[in-house]
Amino acid sequence: MYRTHTCNELRSSDIGRHVTLAGWVASRRDHGGVIFIDLRDREGRTQVVFRPELSAGAAEAAHALHDEDVVQIRGEVAERIPGTANPKLDTGEIEVVASELIILNRSAPLPFQLDANVTNEDLRLTYRYLDLRRPPMLQNLRTRHTLNRVTRDYLDRYGFIEVETPILSKSTPEGAREFLVPSRLYPGQFYALSQSPQQFKQLLMVGGIERYYQIAKCFRDEDPRADRITELTQIDLEASFIEREDIIRLVEGLLAEIFRATRGAEVATPFPRLTYREAMDRFGSDKPDMRFGVELVDFSEAFRESQFKVFRGALDQGGVVKAINAKGFAGITAGQVEELTNLAKSSGARGLAFIKVENGEWKSPIVKFLGEPEKATLRERLAIEEGDLILFGAGQWETVCTVLGRIRSRVADLCGLERDPSDLKFLWVLDFPLMAYDAAENKWNAMHHPFTRPKTEDIPLLERGEYDKVRAEAYDVVLNGVEIGGGSIRIHEGDLQTKQFAALGIPPEAQQKLFRHLLEAFRYGAPPHGGIALGIDRLLMLITDTPNIRDVIAFPKNSRGFDLLMEAPSAVSDRQLRELHLQIRKRQ
Ligand code: ASP
Repeated sequence: MYRTHTCNELRSSDIGRHVTLAGWVASRRDHGGVIFIDLRDREGRTQVVFRPELSAGAAEAAHALHDEDVVQIRGEVAERIPGTANPKLDTGEIEVVASELIILNRSAPLPFQLDANVTNEDLRLTYRYLDLRRPPMLQNLRTRHTLNRVTRDYLDRYGFIEVETPILSKSTPEGAREFLVPSRLYPGQFYALSQSPQQFKQLLMVGGIERYYQIAKCFRDEDPRADRITELTQIDLEASFIEREDIIRLVEGLLAEIFRATRGAEVATPFPRLTYREAMDRFGSDKPDMRFGVELVDFSEAFRESQFKVFRGALDQGGVVKAINAKGFAGITAGQVEELTNLAKSSGARGLAFIKVENGEWKSPIVKFLGEPEKATLRERLAIEEGDLILFGAGQWETVCTVLGRIRSRVADLCGLERDPSDLKFLWVLDFPLMAYDAAENKWNAMHHPFTRPKTEDIPLLERGEYDKVRAEAYDVVLNGVEIGGGSIRIHEGDLQTKQFAALGIPPEAQQKLFRHLLEAFRYGAPPHGGIALGIDRLLMLITDTPNIRDVIAFPKNSRGFDLLMEAPSAVSDRQLRELHLQIRKRQ
């Protein structure tokens, strides 16, 4: 037997027992010939003491131990000398007095200290197997395991069947850019790595599976950002003969169980709901953080006759004027004003008008253009008081909402607004637009994906080409300003799907080439169906309160999409290239 106990098992009640432990040397202290080591395994630590007078050989060998050597020790559990107990360790009352030491393997000097705060992430990723020995990393993996386990149990209880779908699939425009895999057997042809099991899960519904789920890997060749990764994991599910409400209730129950099991937190259900329109109007975001107020207030009516050209011009062109009150932030510094102005500009605004309320006075170049009734409306609807900072947006509705939404979040950071991670503010955002117009490409794109069902009452609008007015039967679930999942009721009729593809600029021949499988399947009695996918990685960031998404993944790529541990991507041999019928062109 390698060990009789783990390193987190022995207590005072075990004093006198003969035990065998195995693990890593977490630290070694030499107290004038007596050697202490902290022996660590996955479960915890136990202090082991080597006394030369009791076993000279073991003590001498212990002398030469280094951090992270792997050892096995035999010895007797003893009470620690009074006053030396370590209340921070579960095993802190006892120590094991070693009679034998077996060195199972040596460790080279470490590239970084495991108990230090290592800021060089690339170093941690290069030696990820060492990084994983650190307790917070192990804890994150355990939490991930719990999340997966609870999910499987819960969905099983509700009759969902776990089905694996292919990773090597077909390139189809679903939303994200795909990774392509060249085929050896079919020269010049490519598989695409599945960006989500979307089409397969719909085909499973046509296949009569009725309730499917999968803890699914999805691959998206996106430029990595703070909370984006190229290889993500989703709780993916789909069901037949259901409505939006069924999915919402199912997911609320699942999230409540996940948070209970991983954080011991009670989540209140049902979650509040906002339509996309309301979320944008009031918070300037389709994933608003509801832990703080600072709502956007519309002043379009109040400024209809404004003397201030910027406001008047925006309104005359069919736009809106909105404002937020950053309470008590009149003391904003010039640097912060510049930062917010740049943020507004990079979000599509031409500038950022604001008023500081200081010493009973409204300070701003725009104040001279404001009439008394306008001021009174602002004062009343924004509850303006001494020390406040009012920030304005004027222009097209969507731009103004987006700009002020970003300002709202940034102001919350700058004001140090309390945003407690344990304050769990869940929210459903409903009734998204079905499509969004891309001015640069001069075409309509699907807001979620092309299989999303328009709201029944909006189908005539789709048929009439009034795309901007069509709402989708789509829903996103948001937690504390982060979109943790999204889904929809799907189109299950071939003719409606064909119309939807056409609206997205996919002509009939291309539809057949790209989506023949789906359109054909819809001819054979496809049931009404819908589903959702929850992003496990982002969910775990929130559960574990970890700002870095890579810290909840065992072997992530770095922030530039590179795998430092395996050194991938990497060049391959000429032979491999030949087999794949590929030739690498020299960079120009
Ligand atoms: N397939 C979608 C996604 O990955 C989710 C869904 O519509 O169920 O975002």
